[in-house]
Amino acid sequence: MELRKPKNCPQCGSTKLAQILYGRPTAEALEAVERGEFVLGGCFVLPDQPDWECQSCRHQWFDADDPARIEWEKLLDDLRNGTLDDEQTG
Ligand SMILES: [Zn+2]
Repeated sequence: MELRKPKNCPQCGSTKLAQILYGRPTAEALEAVERGEFVLGGCFVLPDQPDWECQSCRHQWFDADDPARIEWEKLLDDLRNGTLDDEQTG
């Protein structure tokens, strides 16, 4: 499920937005980073992390009402409550 892309930055109104990617990027993702469509957010996937970065003012945020995001949070919850008890991995 893909995130809905916001139309503009909630802070400055710019439409130059990039999605923040977490985890290990694929070759396709790296090409998208070069095109300015994505930025890399690091290896760790945490709740309440921002999904979007404004290319104008560098503001970072996420849309808490995004269905893909809600789905993802649920998955993280399941992982936390299930098999992945060791938080120190990685
Ligand atoms: Zn902005």
